[in-house]
Amino acid sequence: MGIVVRNLTKHFGAFAAVNDVSFEVPSGQLVALLGPSGSGKSTILRIIAGLEPADSGDVELTGEDATNLPVQQRGVGFVFQHYALFRHMSIRQNIAFGLEVQKPRPSKEEIRARVDELLHLVQLHGYADRYPSQLSGGQRQRVALARALAPRPKVLLLDEPFGALDSKVRDELRTWLRKLHDEVHVTSLFVTHDQQEAFEVSDQVVVLNKGKVEQMGPPQALYEMPRSRFVAEFLGSVNVLRPETLLEMNDISDEAPLPLPIPGPAEDASLLVRPHDFEITRHRNGRPAWSARIRRLTPLGGLVRLDLNLLDGTSLHVQLTRERCKELNLVDGEDVFVTPKDVKMFSETKAFVENYVI
Ligand code: ADP
Ligand code: MG
Repeated sequence: MGIVVRNLTKHFGAFAAVNDVSFEVPSGQLVALLGPSGSGKSTILRIIAGLEPADSGDVELTGEDATNLPVQQRGVGFVFQHYALFRHMSIRQNIAFGLEVQKPRPSKEEIRARVDELLHLVQLHGYADRYPSQLSGGQRQRVALARALAPRPKVLLLDEPFGALDSKVRDELRTWLRKLHDEVHVTSLFVTHDQQEAFEVSDQVVVLNKGKVEQMGPPQALYEMPRSRFVAEFLGSVNVLRPETLLEMNDISDEAPLPLPIPGPAEDASLLVRPHDFEITRHRNGRPAWSARIRRLTPLGGLVRLDLNLLDGTSLHVQLTRERCKELNLVDGEDVFVTPKDVKMFSETKAFVENYVI
């Protein structure tokens, strides 16, 4: 294992910012720590780095207990959103910094060769003698990454490294980081609050909520089999239906009710359906379906967003491909039939998730 975090807890006053957190980052993988603002991501990263002590719990780095090691001995590299470069040093000097302070100090030739190698790696050869103010935001974060990698850290910690950049540059840097990681394979933990960023960049995702791990797994597995309503909602747009809707809609359109068990009131259940998991038809075709009215139709490039109202007043957010929408020749205000094709049923009290494919 590259990084092992076991039962970490950290309070600020009475508030538990990190609450019994355990997870592992396998050697050579890039794992995203994903959660909303305030969920404890940076605190966990700072504890792993040794910048902050935990109240309890252990940190292991490449098989060795690091819980009580000082920062300098942990062999971690960091890149932070606002970990500014040294303004009065050239790009070469910035990247060389971690090598100059190494003990024993590498020779001048070794340092020069390593910096050249890194300049190539982050595609900034030719920029060695510039100063940070002469670079774009995206280029500066690439220098920050090169500086972190220069002393060959055992693990790399990135805290929202692209958070301050505009969305086009962010997109490019994500793709770039993923490619770079495939070349370098340094064990990396990447903090972000952006679901899409986590999915694009990482091998696995740890979902964090209020200082606790909700679920860990490969991105697609989390998306398809979320273990809690929080994970389902955080990892993409989703319709949350009350059990009463199921009851009422099956009563109203009784010719073809949906074959789903009706949860009892004590089960505290909700039904979750992703926007692309609906089938829309103009006529009943023998399949279970609910009547609905199109409230609004919004073209979004290759997809079309439909806002529908069910007869009981429930609104649904549905996504169709542009082709399907054209085929159906849909317009605002029309009545259609809608079938949820993939339904996840959650019960908070019973702590279960069931998947129904219709
Ligand atoms: P994230 O990085 O997920 O946004 P943080 O780890 O920065 O979350 O913070 C988690 C919670 O702990 C937040 O509610 C934050 O206000 C609180 N917190 C973080 N650092 C401190 C501190 N030094 N003193 C008091 N509260 C803090
Ligand atoms: Mg943070």
